[in-house]
Amino acid sequence: MEVRRRFQPRAPAASPSHGGLARRPSAAPAARVQASDALPLPIRHTNLLFSAFFVGSLVFLMRRWREKVRSSIPLHLLGLSEIFAIVGLIASLIYLLSFFGIAFVQSVVSSHDEEDDFLLSGAAPAAPVSSPSPAAICPLLCTDAAAPAPQKNPNITADDEEIISSVVAGKTPSYALESRLGDCRRAAGIRREALKRITGRAFEGLPLDGFDYASILGQCCELPVGYVQLPVGIAGPLLLDGSQHYVPMATTEGCLVASTNRGCKAIAESGGATSVVLRDGMTRAPAVRFPSARRAADLKAFLEEPNNFETIALVFNRSSRFARLQGIHCALAGRNLYMRFSCSTGDAMGMNMVSKGVQNVLDYLEKDFDDMDIISISGNFCSDKKPAAVNWIEGRGKSVVCEAVIKEAVVKKVLKTNIPALVELNMIKNLAGSAVAGSLGGFNAHASNIVSAIYIATGQDPAQNVESSHCITMMEAVNDGKDLHVSVTMPSIEVGTVGGGTQLASQSACLDLLGVKGASLDTPGANARRLASVVAGAVLAGELSLLSALAAGQLVKSHMKYNRSTKDLSKSAS
Ligand code: ADP
Repeated sequence: MEVRRRFQPRAPAASPSHGGLARRPSAAPAARVQASDALPLPIRHTNLLFSAFFVGSLVFLMRRWREKVRSSIPLHLLGLSEIFAIVGLIASLIYLLSFFGIAFVQSVVSSHDEEDDFLLSGAAPAAPVSSPSPAAICPLLCTDAAAPAPQKNPNITADDEEIISSVVAGKTPSYALESRLGDCRRAAGIRREALKRITGRAFEGLPLDGFDYASILGQCCELPVGYVQLPVGIAGPLLLDGSQHYVPMATTEGCLVASTNRGCKAIAESGGATSVVLRDGMTRAPAVRFPSARRAADLKAFLEEPNNFETIALVFNRSSRFARLQGIHCALAGRNLYMRFSCSTGDAMGMNMVSKGVQNVLDYLEKDFDDMDIISISGNFCSDKKPAAVNWIEGRGKSVVCEAVIKEAVVKKVLKTNIPALVELNMIKNLAGSAVAGSLGGFNAHASNIVSAIYIATGQDPAQNVESSHCITMMEAVNDGKDLHVSVTMPSIEVGTVGGGTQLASQSACLDLLGVKGASLDTPGANARRLASVVAGAVLAGELSLLSALAAGQLVKSHMKYNRSTKDLSKSAS
């Protein structure tokens, strides 16, 4: 962290570029007024004069008082010269205090300002000691003169007005609006109006109406004030395992849907792709600590004993009728033990389910291992939403391989390149290039583009894009070099068709389009596994198309066409 000198002279107030936070006027040194500014003499001379006056009066009075003490004259009997000396002493003291004292106080105060500015312009403070009310923060936030004053909302009733004022004043907590009002749409509207007044920002482009706020309550999002609109494009049909899928992709990256669509076309014209789900298990790894590494190893041995596993599985599986414990992978770091529980979760992505099962087991183990200290239900060996070799090697969620054989004619006609160029590019870029980069599961061209777009459209957790995008893309010439064998291997696709954001109207509609909405009635987990296969199939299409564009040197050209808005739709369509 940068260290600043405390009494450094400060630069003039900058334009409010730090996230729109303007400096307070007192921060400008040019505007600082001192007592001496009112005097006719130069400051240095005035200071000298008053200092001499002060010292002279003080010395005179001390001498007089010493004489009085010696000759037993009462101190309060004052002569004219003494009265003059006392007045002079007080006057010079007032001057000196006002000059040096105020400057000192200002410097102390302004040093605190400087620290505030440091915090405001850099990272936000981790935890404010006390959270001021929004009204107290308002002067800091609302000083941008360029911000248009928000217009008064004519739809606000007198009742609402009262609650808004209370929220702005910090008397009613914004998070409590839903429970207090019992009306989620009204709560969102009131919160939004309060935010407008606090920030001075109107955020007109963020819609409020047209969304079911009750559907996210207690499940998807807290403190809502509106919703972000994202376009959804359709790539396909993706011919996968003999069925056609129209793949919804929510994205703002031009070219992405078009490119995936082209890959789907190449796959379909070559007879389709096939997929296999190698494993299906969500993981959670709590961290526990023992007094010694030996004791941690005791628990590891206990969990790895097959007879004990049966008991542990019984305890674990009580969490849900869909949760079935598959295995526990233990690792030690000194006297800390990490237990990576893996379980099937039906059609749910399964984080809640596996966490509940793990909690059951920890409660059970505590009885026999009473020196076990539970540090955290998640010890990062899981590993959720962070790049980790354990997911790349062992998998998390669904591990899927998807492959296709693309005919030479299709490579030429649809992908506008040739097989040797694709094979060489894949080797040099996706394999060797990623190895040079020290990549962890990133042996692909842009798997995360497709994964994120499908995740957002279908209500998955987009943060799990980190490990869900682990993918190795392979390309080989087959059938005497006439065809291209292409595959994607993705060990950690974390998807569900029930729970979380999947039940929201738009996301649910996208799942429905894929034919995997909700729980599978025939085989629990079949819908989620199908969705994972579709993700891998779409990634296969995306890889084919992007690598072909790169091999043919078309990437920049096509991005200029689809990523730069010319508003000339006929040109884009052509
Ligand atoms: P997650 O575990 O993915 O975070 P939830 O906590 O919402 O998701 O768990 C899914 C919920 O849906 C559970 O309560 C479970 O009992 C229920 N459920 C209904 N049908 C299924 C199914 N086929 N597979 C998994 N869960 C299901």
